[in-house]
Amino acid sequence: MNDAKGRTTPAGPLETTPPAFSSEEAAAFAKRLFGLTGVASSLDSERDQNLRVVSDEGVPYLLKISNSADDSGVIEMQTQALLHIIRALPDLPVMRPLPTLDGGLYATLEDTVGNGHLVRLFTFLPGRMMSSVDLDAQALGWFGSTVARMGLSLRGFFHPAGGYKILWDLKHTAQLRPFVDLVSDDERRSICKRALDRFEQHALPALPGLRGQIIHNDLTLDNVLLDDARSVSGIVDFGDLTHSALICDLAIALVSLMWERPDPFEAAEAAIAGYGSVLLIEDEEADLLGDLVSARLIALILIANWRVALYPENTNYITANAESAWGLLERFDAVGLSRVARRLRAACKGGGSSRSGAGCPPTEDLLERRRNVLSPALSPLSYEHPLHLVRGEGIWMFDRSGNRYLDAYNNVPVVGYSHPRVSRAIADQSRTLNTNTRYLHRSVIELAERIVATMPDGLDTVLFVNSGSEANDVAWRLATAYTGAPGAIVTANAYHGVTTATLALSPEEWIEGELPAHVERVPAPDGYRGIHRRESPDWAGRYARHLGEAVTRMQSRGIEPAAFYVDSLFTSDGIFAPPPLYLQSGVDCVRQAGGLIVADEVQSGFGRTGAHMWSFQAAGIVPDFVTLGKPMGNGHPIAAVVTRTQIAERFASKSDIFSTFGGNPVASRAGLAVLDVLEDEALQERAGEVGGYLQEKLKELMRGHESIGDVRGAGLMIGVELVEDAKERRPHSRLAHAVMNRMKDKGVLVGSTGPDGNVLKIRPPLVLATAEADSIAGKLRDSVVDLTNVEGRTRR
Ligand code: PMP
Repeated sequence: MNDAKGRTTPAGPLETTPPAFSSEEAAAFAKRLFGLTGVASSLDSERDQNLRVVSDEGVPYLLKISNSADDSGVIEMQTQALLHIIRALPDLPVMRPLPTLDGGLYATLEDTVGNGHLVRLFTFLPGRMMSSVDLDAQALGWFGSTVARMGLSLRGFFHPAGGYKILWDLKHTAQLRPFVDLVSDDERRSICKRALDRFEQHALPALPGLRGQIIHNDLTLDNVLLDDARSVSGIVDFGDLTHSALICDLAIALVSLMWERPDPFEAAEAAIAGYGSVLLIEDEEADLLGDLVSARLIALILIANWRVALYPENTNYITANAESAWGLLERFDAVGLSRVARRLRAACKGGGSSRSGAGCPPTEDLLERRRNVLSPALSPLSYEHPLHLVRGEGIWMFDRSGNRYLDAYNNVPVVGYSHPRVSRAIADQSRTLNTNTRYLHRSVIELAERIVATMPDGLDTVLFVNSGSEANDVAWRLATAYTGAPGAIVTANAYHGVTTATLALSPEEWIEGELPAHVERVPAPDGYRGIHRRESPDWAGRYARHLGEAVTRMQSRGIEPAAFYVDSLFTSDGIFAPPPLYLQSGVDCVRQAGGLIVADEVQSGFGRTGAHMWSFQAAGIVPDFVTLGKPMGNGHPIAAVVTRTQIAERFASKSDIFSTFGGNPVASRAGLAVLDVLEDEALQERAGEVGGYLQEKLKELMRGHESIGDVRGAGLMIGVELVEDAKERRPHSRLAHAVMNRMKDKGVLVGSTGPDGNVLKIRPPLVLATAEADSIAGKLRDSVVDLTNVEGRTRR
């Protein structure tokens, strides 16, 4: 049975009214039991009776008369813990237990109804309680380091009562679920449920794997005294001491530091940095910190609800903290619990990176060293003033000076930078085994099955490689082997890879005059300023007919088509999302000539379009190959070719394909984690919603700014075409370049694409939030306005 404070005790809750001896009686006990002569006065206490006894010499002491329902084993543990702390870390300011006259640590008293109470005497700690808003970053750091030092001091402590059950122990949070129904407000009840669901899914299974020991379990600003300099002068109330995950102490402390602050995360970051300066936070602990903070909020709320139901007369007292807890939990819910978790996790990691960042060479030095050692053929650094990035978190990237950038450009970190589930999967597997696909391993098979399950019927065979280029290269080998034909068709400015075979399929990279004899190009379906425009009837059909013409041209040179490679969102051609008819009839033209279809999803796949997992699905076609890469491991190298059994079988009858790293267990676990997160965080749906919203915002801008000629795309693959004037639609490449750099200076990263480089490319991780979409549109508008004003002035 649980008592009113959430402890499991043999006594019923109603029997736990605190002891109520008079001050005179207490003073008499102090003299009789401890030989202390002085004047006693009562202090606030909810469960025990605490009295301050000032000796005749003027020295204050704390006399603690415990609740009769308290387990003597637990009280003994608390006393022994204090003695242990004093031995282990003598400068940690805790109360020192003082011996009774007969040398014991406590004495027993009987009240008038015959209940026994344990009585202890302690030194009295100086200082006063403060609220979080009284603490600056330095004081928050001190608080954090105190929490860590408490953990350190108890590291070697053991007591058999440590295993007793107390509902305040965060590992029992799931058991509070029945109390959710006591939350009367519908919205709050669903917030609470969501938080509990996440806790059960994410934190609960991992909790048993964390470092565990006896912890303080209530190290909040209510139990810590501070001196005038805001440094910790006393730690009181060891009443919740229990064996749990070490990191719970930090989570519990963070709640009391965060909830009154205008920017709770800033406070958390300062405290975490302080904690990290004493105790290294393990990755697994960092991963769970956010969920444990939420768990503490849930516990505060639900235990309060339950106690109000039991003691309605104490409602105001009981719910004082619960309201603050609601405030913070509601904020968390608005931000998204997974983002909260990521933020706190990043704060845990941030301590480490800023420390190692201290020895970082300046950017100029790196530029010089890069020039000296990396190939000049390497693609150049982005932006006029290159970015020197040191950390990523969710949608954000951070440079070495701590500036943050909203990344609206990179599709590789599809589930957000440093996603804990992906990083954890990679770390776990690399600690266990990394090997190749010539041995049986569960993850690679499971990943293949999961990918096949996302594909249309017929695409049922997977080959793993390490990059998009390799995927396209392998598809080319399979396609030519299957068809026996040598020809390829690609769009005019396509990019499909870096290998010799795929370079031939990548006109974007061809050197002036280069034109591989086996390749035909077709114009990309640019309905804005291409050869067929959206205004004219059947424009998409006309573009499709170029495929038939390309086949004919090829055949006239004695070459049959092996494959048409198509990125269904035409990302390097300028980003187009033509009507389904284009691919449907284009594909027919190629197939009639015996050619196969390779849907290159390296850029536009993995839910980016919002409507589908794969961008070709919008046209309802079923290609013969789907090639995957970039986002597949959220940055960890992994790529794949998905094809039909008969194509793979024909190849297998003659040869085989083996990639040493392709489909290795670490990469496969990364791939599985990405699929899990996409699903659990409903990121495809989010891409649809936030992408649609962003496109609308950008179209609004377009209506007010002549230089924004067109806005198009699907989901979170958006092109914004900049032109010299809306009528002539001449590409304004210089403006696009300038806007891209200006937006970067304003903290938003975008790229540019298309044969003229005048299309701003917006292709963020799918975790983009609506407010961040507003920020992208706002910064784009400001940059265009700034730069077109300058242009206007210089022209005049
Ligand atoms: N296909 C497409 C459509 C791409 O965008 C890219 C990379 N930009 C590739 C293939 C090649 O992928 P990787 O760089 O991983 O080899």
